[in-house]
Amino acid sequence: MIDEIKKKTIVGNWKMHTTAAAARDLAEGIVDGLIDEEGVSIILCPPYPYLAVVGEVLKETRIALGAQNMYPQMEGAFTGEVSPTMLLDVGCKYVILGHSERRHKLGESNEFINDKVKVALAAGLDVILCVGETLEQRKANQTEALLDRQLSLGLANVEPDTLSRISIAYEPVWAIGNPSHHATPQQAEEAHAVLRARFGRIFGKDAAKQISIQYGGSVVPGDAAALLSRPGIDGALIGGASLVVNDFLEIVRSAIAETEAQPA
Ligand code: PEP
Repeated sequence: MIDEIKKKTIVGNWKMHTTAAAARDLAEGIVDGLIDEEGVSIILCPPYPYLAVVGEVLKETRIALGAQNMYPQMEGAFTGEVSPTMLLDVGCKYVILGHSERRHKLGESNEFINDKVKVALAAGLDVILCVGETLEQRKANQTEALLDRQLSLGLANVEPDTLSRISIAYEPVWAIGNPSHHATPQQAEEAHAVLRARFGRIFGKDAAKQISIQYGGSVVPGDAAALLSRPGIDGALIGGASLVVNDFLEIVRSAIAETEAQPA
């Protein structure tokens, strides 16, 4: 039955946090705390140096390993960068691309992100593409146009047979790392509907139905259920709360409950 409905997805983005020992403890805490995770897809995204450490802990579990970024070349003279083949080699199944911290703090353009999306998919990684507006853009009523642009440019020329390996994370920039100012379930639902409609115009209605769209922006255990119960919110990308075993597990449990509550 669970396989026939859309499972919620919970992604832990550890950003530039942890040490090797802390990463192992965090991953072990999550693995040990899960009892019945059949109704949820869980992806942990530690920093590059700890991918192997965490991958070791996740072996033989249902939890997948993801990276927070990659460079859009298979190999070469790109000092300091990490290729999709390296990520696959170390056990990654997923890669987060277009995170707002990379767009706004490191100046990544939609075109560069699109390159990464295409190269990641071609290499065999599944992609979580992040999109989201700034507060200024929201106040200026530019949210819809911005989401439209980030989605269509980010996914330009993507091969139709790779669509099932793409998910979207709607992450309003003003809500990230800002627990006192996160999006309401209503705001998140509306933005997800905009993204799904746009996705449908590009790739067709069936693809729009299938695409998983996660919400990210200061999700904490107390509001996870309210968000995840909304139509069109297929999961959550968690930053701060993913660094606390019990908080992350509580969010995962909300996701399992919401998956099970869906009509078959
Ligand atoms: C994120 O890392 O994308 C994120 C949503 O972080 P936080 O949950 O801390 O806002």
